[in-house]
Amino acid sequence: MFDKILIANRGEIACRIIRTARRLGVATVAVCSDADADALHVRMADEAVRIGPAAARDSYLRHDAVIAACQRTGAQAVHPGYGFLSENAEFAEACAAAGITFIGPPPAAIRAMGSKSESKRIMESAGVPLVPGYHGSDQDDATLSRAADDIGYPVLVKASAGGGGKGMRIVRAAADLPEALAGARREACAAFGDDTMLIEKLLERPRHVEMQVFGDSHGNYVHLFERDCSLQRRHQKVIEEAPAPGLPEDVRARLGEAAIAAAHAVGYVGAGTVEFLYQDGAFFFIEMNTRLQVEHPVTEMITGQDLVEWQLGVAAGGTLPCAQADLAVRGHAFEARIYAEDPERDFLPSTGRIHHLRTPPETEGLRIDSGIVEGDAVSIHYDPMIAKLVVWGPDRAAALHRLRAALAGYQIVGPATNLAFLSRVAAHPAFARAALTTHFIDNHRDALVPVRAGASDAVLALAVLDLLEHARQEAAAQARAGADPSSPWHLATGWRMNGHAFRAFTFLDGEARHRVGVRFGPDAYTLDLPGGRCTARAARASDGDLVAELDGQRLQATVVCHDGNRRSVFHAGRAHLLLLDEPGAAGPGTGAASGSLSAPMPGLVTQVSVAVGDKVTSGQALMVLEAMKMEHTITAPLDGTVTEVNFAAGSQVGDGDVLLSVAAAAETA
Ligand code: ADP
Repeated sequence: MFDKILIANRGEIACRIIRTARRLGVATVAVCSDADADALHVRMADEAVRIGPAAARDSYLRHDAVIAACQRTGAQAVHPGYGFLSENAEFAEACAAAGITFIGPPPAAIRAMGSKSESKRIMESAGVPLVPGYHGSDQDDATLSRAADDIGYPVLVKASAGGGGKGMRIVRAAADLPEALAGARREACAAFGDDTMLIEKLLERPRHVEMQVFGDSHGNYVHLFERDCSLQRRHQKVIEEAPAPGLPEDVRARLGEAAIAAAHAVGYVGAGTVEFLYQDGAFFFIEMNTRLQVEHPVTEMITGQDLVEWQLGVAAGGTLPCAQADLAVRGHAFEARIYAEDPERDFLPSTGRIHHLRTPPETEGLRIDSGIVEGDAVSIHYDPMIAKLVVWGPDRAAALHRLRAALAGYQIVGPATNLAFLSRVAAHPAFARAALTTHFIDNHRDALVPVRAGASDAVLALAVLDLLEHARQEAAAQARAGADPSSPWHLATGWRMNGHAFRAFTFLDGEARHRVGVRFGPDAYTLDLPGGRCTARAARASDGDLVAELDGQRLQATVVCHDGNRRSVFHAGRAHLLLLDEPGAAGPGTGAASGSLSAPMPGLVTQVSVAVGDKVTSGQALMVLEAMKMEHTITAPLDGTVTEVNFAAGSQVGDGDVLLSVAAAAETA
């Protein structure tokens, strides 16, 4: 076994590899870009080397910098994780030339399987069924068009060097082929520097079923069963599970044989995944990935094996730790990928600082792989995955139950996330029935991405009670700090905010506006909510959660203040975003003065429409910020006067920078 390895990656996969290495007594070296200098993977590793600026091509993708970091720290081997350099044969060769072990397959196997066309030729001669298609070297439009006619429309045009769904186009009619080819070639050229195309029959309702294989340098091969990765958006996986539900035993056995034949055919060593589409009882090879996959934890959960431990052992020259007969499936596992992305905007990646992060507690049946902690930012430079939530249960129904509960207990405030979307998938009856195809998300889009539901009375009540509790606690703290320790402000009962017996709060909830009236009674509040009146009490739990009683019913919520006057209310497994529309009542803990507006993400100020002293009305556009190629308009939160403009057009601003301030009309009158 190695004494020290370097992990040429970042985020959750770097952290996950470090955990296994540490357990085995192997020292670890992290590499990082300037953007990741304080990242979790850097803090977890025994040593770290900074290898370049934020952009991956200047840091994580630099062969020379990674190899130099190994030499400088004495790391004997490099684990590439997934993505970045993991399927780069030249990098694997450069490691070998420098006397460093590449923890992965031989360069020749990476090369053979890195090309979808070449891998199909290899699999065809190994007798493995392929999706009907063309994978020849003749690439002119006329040949490809004839091939598509022979295959029969609809077809799928794919980049041979492809990955991550790039360079892929569905074509339903011959007339659309030239344009699709041109677009796919452009995309493939930009992403992979290779525009070789292949054409496949488009299967209309396939499942994506893949086999985990492993080989060692002594000619031993095993498979570790299959994963079903049919739950995809934009041809990319979001929820995976193992084993594939309802897969007949004979199909499982034949898939295993085909996958091992694939590994054999290229002299495979290490962890690999052979991907198939499965439809109407038949399966077809699509590609082999020559690395550890993102979704490997579900295989670990059902087999009880640690695949990174296997990778290290095999790379160090060891034999596979067990034979096929020793491996068995136990129970069922799901992985849900939690992404910073917006399902309502076609899953567009989002960025920004994670202001608040709370995760369900990890247990034997619940694992969270993440490289992000509260306060970190999801940046434009890297993959927007925040975490992988992995659950195990004795059967699929039990595992699904755990998945739902775990998703309900996950709280993130900051960038848009797919958490609510994942919860809806996990709760969908068709998902529970395992009626899976790769079109599941598209077919059920209306149920999975519904229009935002308005805040319920309970949510509004919780938001108001949280504000009242904050104000009450602050008043009590001030009284304690003041001269009169026996001040009546210490008393929770009969407390009145600013001496009022009545107060009203207004919240903006998407397009809607809700007003909640509060009457302060001797031992309870009376709330006037849109749906009627209720009696309410509030207190704090030790973890800061709000414990409320509404007409005798006990409710619990986490309420997070962020970005000035926004409130994220987590209640009953759901998150609701409200904007407090109350001059001067931004509430404590926001860190921002009344009416001050901060940048939602780093960006460029492209327009400033107001100057200090200007009178503005609530909702008026004040400034335009450009970030991630999109425009964000900063609007006035209230009627008033601009008191501060901190940036001019052309300025670069950081996440959270105070851009401008508006004083409420009443304050400036
Ligand atoms: P990439 O390497 O870019 O991820 P893959 O070849 O692995 O591309 O395919 C990704 C996904 O695209 C598959 O899981 C499947 O959902 C879909 N897909 C690929 N080939 C076909 C096909 N011939 N018919 C239908 N869907 C396909």
